[in-house]
Amino acid sequence: MSAFPSVTDKLPRFALAHLPTPLHDLPNLTAHLGGPALFVKRDDETGLATGGNKARKLEFLIAEAKESGADTVITAGSTQSNHARQTAAAAARAGLACHLVLYAPDARPPQRVEGNVLLDTLLGATLHWTDEKAPYVKPLAIVEEEIRAAGKKPHVIPYGGSSALGLMGYVRAMEELAAQTKDQPPFDAVVFATSSGGTQAGMMIGAKVAGLIGKTRLLGISVDMSARTLHDRITQLVREGCQKLGVEWDGAGISKALHINDNYIGGGYAVVGDPEREAIRLLARKEGILADPVYTGRALAGLLDLIRKDIFKKDQRVLFWHTGGSAALFAFEKELLAT
Ligand SMILES: *Cc1c(COP(=O)(O)O)cnc(C)c1O
Repeated sequence: MSAFPSVTDKLPRFALAHLPTPLHDLPNLTAHLGGPALFVKRDDETGLATGGNKARKLEFLIAEAKESGADTVITAGSTQSNHARQTAAAAARAGLACHLVLYAPDARPPQRVEGNVLLDTLLGATLHWTDEKAPYVKPLAIVEEEIRAAGKKPHVIPYGGSSALGLMGYVRAMEELAAQTKDQPPFDAVVFATSSGGTQAGMMIGAKVAGLIGKTRLLGISVDMSARTLHDRITQLVREGCQKLGVEWDGAGISKALHINDNYIGGGYAVVGDPEREAIRLLARKEGILADPVYTGRALAGLLDLIRKDIFKKDQRVLFWHTGGSAALFAFEKELLAT
């Protein structure tokens, strides 16, 4: 089925994403910064209602929902959750109903139906508003109970799709990258946005099985949580993922491969400041690629800052893994147009 053998092949997968995603260089941005050589992995082009990293996780999560005999999936996220929007699209493809628990201050629906919320609605999801924040355990349980009481069979997908199963999407993604670059030297670093941790945990396990640990540094730029909190969460996810796959990796090895930078959280989750605005404009104007206001804009701002601080050698090769999210641009007009 796939172009490369994957350690995840024994797990059921419901094909959703357009794979492999493109991998290409960023010549204008590289020249503008004077090196290192920059490349991008286009997981903003995974398909599924404007793309993003959750499509890869959902291939495994939706397969599990279908196998369990569910007729409805439920998940949760912030107001402009990309995960919620991609889950709604995945559910539509799989013939499942979709309920989304979304955060809003005072549990009030936002005044304007815009960005991902507009897409959630077009995709046919039922929206439930909560003022509880991640991991949304209680509101998810309440909606699950309501759906069960109505005689349906719900299946809950954790927020961000970050479970031992969801992260398998990024184990495969890293194997996909290894296959795409088998005739090239490995990247010195892969830089990406990290939040609920499944993407980073999956990438780490994928790098382990592809023999990239010690060659390619995987650097997650935290968009909201402290490095300490994320370190514990991702370590746990890596352990659970390895166990599921029968991959041996000791705690010291995991810890050595786990790199998180939490210096770019700025004003907090989804607060667009000067660094994000500059990064989004620069990528758009140099390369014609849209980053997003919440995740990739922040991660790219962090990468630009690290490059300007000469953290990378000029002849190194650095991959920016674009994880999607551009639909949220349309809910941040004011912040993005500010000068
Ligand atoms: C969810 C998301 C991330 C973070 O991925 P995690 O697996 O939650 O760490 C990064 N970028 C975008 C665009 C996202 O939607």
